[in-house]
Amino acid sequence: MGSIGSFNLPGSMRALEYTEARKFSIVEKPLPKIREHDVLIKVKACGVCGTDLHIHDGEFGAQFPLVPGHETVGVIAAYGSHVTGFSIGDRVVADNSEVCGHCHYCRRGKELFCENFVAHGVMVDGGFAEYAVYPAHRVFKFQNLSDVDATLLEPAACAAHGLDKIAPQMGSKVLLFGAGPTGLMLAQLLRQNGGCHTVIAAPGGLKMDLARSLDAADEYVELPREADAAGVRMEQLRGEHPYGFDIVVEATGSARVLEDAIHFVSKSGKLVVYGVYGDGDRVSLSPNMIFKEEFQVLGSFSQMHKFPAAIDYLADRKRIKVDGIVNKTFKLNEWEACLDAMRNKSVVKAAIVFD
Ligand SMILES: [Zn+2]
Ligand SMILES: [Zn+2]
Repeated sequence: MGSIGSFNLPGSMRALEYTEARKFSIVEKPLPKIREHDVLIKVKACGVCGTDLHIHDGEFGAQFPLVPGHETVGVIAAYGSHVTGFSIGDRVVADNSEVCGHCHYCRRGKELFCENFVAHGVMVDGGFAEYAVYPAHRVFKFQNLSDVDATLLEPAACAAHGLDKIAPQMGSKVLLFGAGPTGLMLAQLLRQNGGCHTVIAAPGGLKMDLARSLDAADEYVELPREADAAGVRMEQLRGEHPYGFDIVVEATGSARVLEDAIHFVSKSGKLVVYGVYGDGDRVSLSPNMIFKEEFQVLGSFSQMHKFPAAIDYLADRKRIKVDGIVNKTFKLNEWEACLDAMRNKSVVKAAIVFD
């Protein structure tokens, strides 16, 4: 299907392409073809997250060859003949998930578990390219947010989904381990939706400083990086909150921290598993404790239909503050440096930007 609206499109584009795990290069390739219900986005910025490190290593269901990038922001460059409601130049963010609508889970309203789930930037090409294609119904217009900050709309949508899963009760005490981008957004959401005392526990440094500048919590607990000292500080924290926390969120992706987090959950509280863990990771917990203390273990993975909420909170109402979360940008040809910065944690969050 040809496009009915477009501005002058080049014949080819630059993209970051993996042919297999850890093998990538910048390639010149044809623009992606748009079907009648698709839009073509000229990418302005695409966020980089921890998942991209897993994809680099061929994990997380990555299918090669692949152009990664699942936090795509840009402007409409062309659209298919059946698309309505978009104009050339509209500023948009893309939801990277596509579901089939007819499988066992989709028919029950559980599209997150779609058996034919397609994730852009993981299984099909995503936003680390000058142009990217998405179905129009997965693309959302926004204003009042920079392109770089708009790359946080995807993780914010995941945080909004997390809030739905947690369904906090008014007056909840909240403890969140980790001060990464999604953790900082979830902390703000929890604090504004039922959380009456929110504590962020994480090692001191860039992310904790940022948590303070965003006013993400009521209390900040700096955990020493050295294990024994961290254990002492955790013990102290337990003493300060003898009845524990109604909601404990593990947002670091460490199985060891998850095992510690269990001991902070109040009776009848909720433990939220909110990181990306290694497939081989295991934690031990006492079934009797779950039984007698009636605590719940909740998972929150990805999101479904939460982009409109994310746009309301970040862009339109500025209810979630994100200034400074993306603290470094890279060009496409600086991918190696970007990976290094991610690995050595010298960035809070990075984004790839385009002219
Ligand atoms: Zn991500
Ligand atoms: Zn499905």
